[in-house]
Amino acid sequence: MTTNYKYIYGPVASWRLGSSLGIDLLSQEEKICTFNCLYCQLGPTLCYTVKRQIFVPVKDIIKEINDLPPININYITFAGSGEPTLASNLGQTIKAVKAVSKVPIAVLTNSSLLHLNKVRQELLPADYVSVKLDAVSPDSLQAINDPAKAVCFEKLLSGIIKFRNQYQGWLALQLMFVNKNMQDVDKMINLIKQINPDEVQINTPLRGCAVKPLSKGIIIKIRSTIAAACKKAAIISVYDKNKTQAIYSISDAETLKRRGK
Ligand code: SF4
Repeated sequence: MTTNYKYIYGPVASWRLGSSLGIDLLSQEEKICTFNCLYCQLGPTLCYTVKRQIFVPVKDIIKEINDLPPININYITFAGSGEPTLASNLGQTIKAVKAVSKVPIAVLTNSSLLHLNKVRQELLPADYVSVKLDAVSPDSLQAINDPAKAVCFEKLLSGIIKFRNQYQGWLALQLMFVNKNMQDVDKMINLIKQINPDEVQINTPLRGCAVKPLSKGIIIKIRSTIAAACKKAAIISVYDKNKTQAIYSISDAETLKRRGK
């Protein structure tokens, strides 16, 4: 069955979350983001912003959730075509979805707005938050994530640490490794220790994009180096694929591609 849901998509098989039904609170024709990552599957960022606004009313999301057929999902995940914390009704929507569904809520963020107390507060009711950190310095942030001018490395890192100290749910730290940062593992370990996440997710861009992924051998080596140094956190890598499962999607292939899936 293919449906015409406008804002929700999937479920998709996620190596991090299992069966994940996506909510795209931006849902615009173009990706809207605070970053322009060199590995972005959605292509270059044409609409850069750090300004939060409402893109989709909460009631429209809830209508689609209420209209869902019975499906088997592990998480309802706020992600999609850009940075979900740019939606200023993210917190309201998380609460509204929780009121109509018992499925745990996940949010995947690039961390760029976590320095804002309001954004951190809005994320607190989520059951699982994955925060991105690919860079170990202002220069590597520029080289890998090419952020909007208002985003700086120090604010981004301190935003993640502040959020860690407030958040009671499962905090995953996602590290995307490519050629440009594969030498930075030791510096990254220092940052992981400062952040103290529940889980470290070691990723490399296996889906089609402008840069090549690192090999399984390199990622396994990075994984064991980080695991040896950060014993308190669970460590997973995109090559583990242990949560991947056969999933029947309610979205067509074009919708999934637009959301970078
Ligand atoms: S990968 Fe994510 S954070 Fe980076 S530009 Fe694409 S949508 Fe934005």
